[in-house]
Amino acid sequence: MILPIYIYGQPVLRKVAEDIPADMPGLSELVQDMFETLAESEGIGLAAPQIGKAIRVVVIDLDVISDDLPEYKGFRRAYINPHIVEYDDSKTETMEEGCLSLPAIHENVTRPTRIRVQYLDDAQQQHDEWVDGYLARVMQHEFDHLDGKMFIDRISPLRKQLIKSKLRAILQGRFRCAYKAKAAAKR
Ligand SMILES: [Zn+2]
Repeated sequence: MILPIYIYGQPVLRKVAEDIPADMPGLSELVQDMFETLAESEGIGLAAPQIGKAIRVVVIDLDVISDDLPEYKGFRRAYINPHIVEYDDSKTETMEEGCLSLPAIHENVTRPTRIRVQYLDDAQQQHDEWVDGYLARVMQHEFDHLDGKMFIDRISPLRKQLIKSKLRAILQGRFRCAYKAKAAAKR
C-alpha cells in the first residue's frame, strides 16, 4: 500500500521516535508499505515519521543508484530501532541532499564519512557495525528523522536564510511533488 508522505511542518517530523518491540504486530506489512511508498516516490530512503509514525523504522533502497554505484546492486534493507552510537569525526564530506518531506529543496550538508550503527534487521538480527561511503550518508539523513531532525537543520545560517521563502511556501501547502503528500496546511 502506498502511503502519503508527511511534509515539512507536520509535527510528527519533529518528534523523537520510539524504539519498537521487534515482534510488533504489523511490522512486516509496514516495512513492505514503506518500500512501496519509497519506490513510488523515487526516493532512496524513508523513515517512519515521514509516513506519520513516530517509531524507529527506516527503509533504504540503494539499488536505484547502482548504475552509478555498482557496490549497491540489490541493496534494499530495513532498519529497526537504528541508533548511531559513534561518529568518526576525523573525516567529513559535503554533499547535496534532498528529502521527500522537503519538496524541491536541495542543499549541501557536511557530515562525517564514517559512523557506527546499531540496529535490528527485518529478520530480527542485531547488528553493530561501522559504515562508510554513500550508505553512511543516507543513514545519517534517515536516522536524523528518527530524532526529529531534518537536513535543513544542518545547513549554514546563510543558506537557511536564502531558502526561507521556499520553506514558508511549503508550510502553507504551496509546493508540487509527484507523489501523494500530506502537507501541514490544507492545500
Ligand atoms: Zn529526509
